[in-house]
Amino acid sequence: MIYDNHNRPITYLRLAVTDRCNLRCFYCMPEEGIKYLHKSQVLTYEEMERLVQVLARLGVQKVRITGGEPFVRAGLMDFLHRLAAIDGLNDISLTTNGVLTAPHVADLAALGVRSVNLSMDTLDRERFRTITRRDELPAVLKTLDALLDAGIQTKINAVVMDGQNTQDLIPLADLTRTMPVDVRFIEEMPFNGEGSHYPVLHWTHKRIIDEIRSHFPTLEKLPDPPFSTSANYQIPGHQGTIGVIAAFSRTFCGTCNRIRMTAQGTLKTCLYDDGVLDVRALLRSGASDEALTAAFLKAFSHRPLNGFEAEKNRSTVTESMSTIGG
Ligand code: SAM
Repeated sequence: MIYDNHNRPITYLRLAVTDRCNLRCFYCMPEEGIKYLHKSQVLTYEEMERLVQVLARLGVQKVRITGGEPFVRAGLMDFLHRLAAIDGLNDISLTTNGVLTAPHVADLAALGVRSVNLSMDTLDRERFRTITRRDELPAVLKTLDALLDAGIQTKINAVVMDGQNTQDLIPLADLTRTMPVDVRFIEEMPFNGEGSHYPVLHWTHKRIIDEIRSHFPTLEKLPDPPFSTSANYQIPGHQGTIGVIAAFSRTFCGTCNRIRMTAQGTLKTCLYDDGVLDVRALLRSGASDEALTAAFLKAFSHRPLNGFEAEKNRSTVTESMSTIGG
């Protein structure tokens, strides 16, 4: 097991397999003018497999596939099969917007994928279209049904946006009544591809949970699993749970065990950093596994204490979350 300079184990990789997406969520990407990476700039599946092998030898046990939207990249299922064969990995999961996912759910279950994060900010078709700039809620709901039918643990991720979907907090939380899902509300972050953000975040994790508690006064706090980014709750009698992720307030950095690899092969040791290692350049210059290992270890020994320190070390956040993977 590898520990960083703040004594946090590094066991979890979020791997973006593409920067392309079939939605245009306004809090993530501009509607037009997105400069996607050229195919040659994106890591090949072989390159990703190799770096995961090296990281697994260093103690990474869990990989979450993300994007962009993972299912817009051809060959994803074959890649997942190859990942499943890597020694030391015991948890492969993914995060998806659910638009193209339903037909793959049976394969995911057969492959041993235990958990899928499904992004769904609203249950209202018109608001979904406004937020994502695409009319795809029915396809996403089909994926939700397929995941539940397949017995895959499903986390619904909803970004809470002032004036956009706060009326959805209660209907989304109420899904837990009849479905064994974890509904997680995420504070909005400034990664919208334009660099602009509210001067003050209106919907903080505290306000989100206060709002839910005002409708469900019996809401109970649950113990949080180790390394959890969400503070977890349950309404007594409900099948599912409710979580709140203080992604902008950054309350959970002290136990952060995760690193990120962007689609172009840049290592991030904090969501808020500017990228700390050009892994693609190393891979393409013929670096040995030993050289890759040494570069990773050096990066892990310089991790910022928290997202505030990481943000201070860079110029303004201007990138889209689709280039990071969430
Ligand atoms: N397309 C996949 C999906 O929708 O889950 C994976 C990539 S997406 C960038 C990962 C997560 O990041 C989604 O849950 C999305 O809602 C979240 N996200 C994107 N931009 C965000 C922002 N500005 N603030 C908070 N969360 C954001």
